[in-house]
Amino acid sequence: MYQTTQRAWLESLRQTLNPNDLITDPDRLASFSGDETRDLHHLPEAAAFPRSVAQVSAVLRVCSEHCIPVVPRGGGSGVSGGAAAIHGGLVLSLRHLNRIVVLDARNMTVTVEAGMVTGTLQDRLAEKGLRLPPDPGSRDWCQVGGNLAEAAAGPKSVKYGAFRDYVLNLEVVLADGRVIWTGADVRKFACGYNLTHLILGSEGTLGVITKAVFRLVPTAPESVLLRMGFTTLEAATDMICRVFTSGLTPSEVEIVDRDAIALAQPLCNAPADPDLAAYLWIGFDGREADFLMADAERAADLAESIGCADLLFASDPDQVRRLWTYRHRIGPAVIETTPFRDVDLSFPRAALADVVHMVKEVGRRYGFRTAVFGHAGDGNLHVNVLRDALDEAAWQGPVREGIADIYRRVCAMGGTLSGEHGVGCTLTPYLEEALGSTRLVLMAGIKEVFDPQGILNPGKIVETPI
Ligand SMILES: Cc1cc2nc3c(=O)[nH]c(=O)nc-3n(C[C@H](O)[C@H](O)[C@H](O)COP(=O)(O)OP(=O)(O)OC[C@H]3O[C@@H](n4cnc5c(N)ncnc54)[C@H](O)[C@@H]3O)c2cc1C
Repeated sequence: MYQTTQRAWLESLRQTLNPNDLITDPDRLASFSGDETRDLHHLPEAAAFPRSVAQVSAVLRVCSEHCIPVVPRGGGSGVSGGAAAIHGGLVLSLRHLNRIVVLDARNMTVTVEAGMVTGTLQDRLAEKGLRLPPDPGSRDWCQVGGNLAEAAAGPKSVKYGAFRDYVLNLEVVLADGRVIWTGADVRKFACGYNLTHLILGSEGTLGVITKAVFRLVPTAPESVLLRMGFTTLEAATDMICRVFTSGLTPSEVEIVDRDAIALAQPLCNAPADPDLAAYLWIGFDGREADFLMADAERAADLAESIGCADLLFASDPDQVRRLWTYRHRIGPAVIETTPFRDVDLSFPRAALADVVHMVKEVGRRYGFRTAVFGHAGDGNLHVNVLRDALDEAAWQGPVREGIADIYRRVCAMGGTLSGEHGVGCTLTPYLEEALGSTRLVLMAGIKEVFDPQGILNPGKIVETPI
């Protein structure tokens, strides 16, 4: 039974942390009541800001002793409610653990504290000619620990893979305060169960990540980008499949659908042909501009042979930035237009046109509009379900039923519920139908081993008794 009402735990935390590193004032706690998920706010009783692994461990010992829920928090950029304290308790912010511990240029690895902002780490690595490639759109404020806890990715994952493909070892504080390393600082590791990958995507339910060791790759100083418009989703899907089967290795393959184009247009200051079903962006990066140019020409020839309606090309950094406009403005455009729910579908990429048609058909049936965009080359689309003028009854009733229908249908098409945004608390109700009860029983068993009292981020991924 959780015991948030008894205040002895707060007294113990005060003795563990610096005076300014524990807050209990509800006004100040408001900014820790959720993440970027709309309409989801749960005030915790307190928020702690430890400055060392020893302090994280001490905080967890106190919470374990008093059976207090602990919600690890990175940058708060999550979109599935993972950092919301839905059962109250303590929000544990990693923001002060934000240093590079070791940059080993010869072995091309970096050991970094989990609270470091991802974009800051990437900028520091770039100064040394090194790179951790996954590039989430939230890079300016999400943290390395949050990226690992969510198994995050980004546009460049289509060529380079996601965060999970770069992590070699993790320092993790367990629910009772013990500190472990999950692997070793080596590229190959064949010593039993893979605890590193078990922690990835566990969303703070199995332990608190305090350090990560990543392998790195060299920077890719040159890039070219193509933007192409297609009047049918079938042609866009054909292009996506053919760019890979023709032997090209694009660094980005992104899409924005017709409804998303219309939403973004007022912010983009650039006209878009109303007949387009979608824009597709295909990028190439590397060291040799000539090779990239040859790849881009091949992709352009392919696009024209498929009936591309509108083809633009950019190679200097300023042009490249401008060419991304529609893709980069769609997130802010949705936020400015209406409340929305985020649906993060993942499926075999050749099914893209069928999945978008399915989403639109469900929207028509249940009475809502959607903007669809995302990482088409990975078969990972972000469907923003738009509230527009829908009243509360429609938003809570038919819209939720429609979203459940989308999840059911994408699974029937060989896909799944989330490619990179995680389960949090928004997907928990749909998990059993998607994964089956046997897998959920195994997950609950793993949770029980790591966190027998169920204090770590309760109510996320697996239900734990309260
Ligand atoms: C504009 C925008 C663009 C985005 N673009 C992308 C994208 O391209 N790709 C993508 O994958 N996601 C994207 N996201 C989603 C989000 O940024 C990612 O899920 C990100 O990884 C969350 O990191 P965070 O540090 O903000 O974590 P938070 O939101 O703070 O937390 C996320 C989850 O991780 C847990 N957690 C955080 N830190 C730790 C830790 N140290 N140890 C254990 N558990 C921890 C929390 O408890 C929570 O369950 C985007 C979000 C926005 C708002």
